[in-house]
Amino acid sequence: MKHIPQERRIVERMVPGVLCLEGFLGSDPRSLSEIIETDRRALEDIGLDCQSVARRLEKVYEIAVANLERPVQVGTDLEAVHLSAMGRIPCPWGGCGLWPKGDVVLTDRTTGRVYRFTALSMHLIGLHGFFQGRGHRYRLEPDEIARLLGLGKEGSQ
Ligand SMILES: [Zn+2]
Repeated sequence: MKHIPQERRIVERMVPGVLCLEGFLGSDPRSLSEIIETDRRALEDIGLDCQSVARRLEKVYEIAVANLERPVQVGTDLEAVHLSAMGRIPCPWGGCGLWPKGDVVLTDRTTGRVYRFTALSMHLIGLHGFFQGRGHRYRLEPDEIARLLGLGKEGSQ
C-alpha cells in the first residue's frame, strides 16, 4: 500500500471538530491510505483517475454557482444546485489554501438519489485522491459518481 507522508497528522485534522464539525472520515474504520488506495483502484478498473472525476465535478460546480442557487440541468436526468454558505475551510493536508464553504447538491432524477460536494471536495479528490470516508455526508463513491457524471468506459467522456 502506498504510504502517505504525514498520514497521522492529516488524520488528526480529519477528526470531527478540528477543521469542521463533521470531520472527514465518517464512520469509515479503514486507514486513510486504505481508503485512498481502494478508491484509486475502483476508478482504475473503469479506466479513470481522480483528476478526471475532479475536472468533471469542477465543470458542474461552475455551472451550479453561475446559476445562483437555482437548480440547473447538468446531464440527462441530473440536476445541480449550489447552496452558498459563509466562510472558508482549509484542507486537512495543510498548506494547500482555503476553500469557500457551500454545497453543490446533485440529484439523480431517475433514482432520486442525492450527492453533495464542495470546493474542498474537488480539491481533495483532484490533488489527494480522497473521496472522504464512508458514512460521511460528503462521501462520493468514485465509480458511482463517475457513472453519474457520464465518465468511464460506458460513458461519453
Ligand atoms: Zn490539500
